[in-house]
Amino acid sequence: MNSTTSILQHANEVLIGNYARLPVVMHRGEGALLWDTDGKRYIDLFAGFGGAILGHCHPALIEAARMQMHQLWHVGNTFHTEPQIEVAGWLNRAAFTGQAFFCHSGLEANEAACKLARLRGQDATPKRWKIISLEKSFHGRSLAMIAATGNAAVRQGFAPDIPGFIRVPQGDFAALQAAVDDQVCGIIMEPIQGEGGINFHPPGYTAKVRQLCDQRALTLIFDEVWSGCGRTGQWFGYQHFLDDAGKIIEPDIITLGKAIGGGLPVGAMFAKPHVAKLLVPGKHGCTLGGNPICMAVAKAIFDTIDKQKLLERAAELGEHAMARLRGDAGLKDKIADVRGRGLMLGIELCQPPDQLVSRALQSGIVINLTSKTVIRLAPPINIAAELWDKGLDALAQLLRTL
Ligand code: PLP
Repeated sequence: MNSTTSILQHANEVLIGNYARLPVVMHRGEGALLWDTDGKRYIDLFAGFGGAILGHCHPALIEAARMQMHQLWHVGNTFHTEPQIEVAGWLNRAAFTGQAFFCHSGLEANEAACKLARLRGQDATPKRWKIISLEKSFHGRSLAMIAATGNAAVRQGFAPDIPGFIRVPQGDFAALQAAVDDQVCGIIMEPIQGEGGINFHPPGYTAKVRQLCDQRALTLIFDEVWSGCGRTGQWFGYQHFLDDAGKIIEPDIITLGKAIGGGLPVGAMFAKPHVAKLLVPGKHGCTLGGNPICMAVAKAIFDTIDKQKLLERAAELGEHAMARLRGDAGLKDKIADVRGRGLMLGIELCQPPDQLVSRALQSGIVINLTSKTVIRLAPPINIAAELWDKGLDALAQLLRTL
């Protein structure tokens, strides 16, 4: 038995089988490359569900973590620590004037945002507490967030749903408007849906949602866990969408996860002051949230993306890939649509493929398939142009064989 086989055998004995894991043990990473325990090399076109936004073992992130590790690991949030304040400062520069709460994951950020929307709703008469979300959305795996998530499969086996979440069809503004009764306190939506298949809302939809929230004093939460921190070629996905006056449509709250930690467990809820001020002591917290080492790395991510102009780069590499895939005559009968922004890309296939992700691994690329027919690509946004092209070559070759 080789060492990989014995590791896999041990894994099956000691790990819960809640992930559909592939029979590969990843051992080492560098930039956009990964190596498994058999020494096979892969081009990472998915960056661990988008988390490793600057790739594996980035020297600036290692250095930030190393410096912080020698200085301070953890104190309770009864104290201030500088790295948290610095990341919150970055959010103010990259998004809007606001205040941050830090946690470990995307779902926790969404929980915090929904609690905050409810807190604001408590001031209304009658009290408001329901939150509207969209079909095909994904907001996390806690009991409340599966109730918000617009995918029945993630709720299966966990009935009854936590009350207070209303799901409406994605992109149907009339349905959304009709769902707003006087108990609704907020709306949560992804600016670009990730798990649901890289879905865009119809033109004008987001502006109408913002208007509705203003008219009815609802809290608008943009779940930027997938689209945040540079992946789409802007700091945040919402920054791609403008109202009729050409102004970016801003939410009251953004929630972040994945890329903000570069692969370390970081989540953040970032709220405008009129709502943030309601989260007073005793209302919410997280023991390890805003951990100094994680925050030092998060700050280094913002610094590096900014210094190396990686937003522009993500936009260019994404446009290049979309043009290439759309223009490939050999793929015309395989691909129904190519869509995305920056390096958050979806390739919708004409037919559900068989064993595509495993076959991609055999060809040396890591990809993801969601919603049965949508290949997702989300490489590190600092991937070298030649490596990106090599990965796309391997993918195109694979798609031709479908
Ligand atoms: N929100 C969105 C849009 C996501 O895509 C995800 C995870 O994929 C989450 C929330 C949950 O994030 P986490 O897995 O960090 O809890």
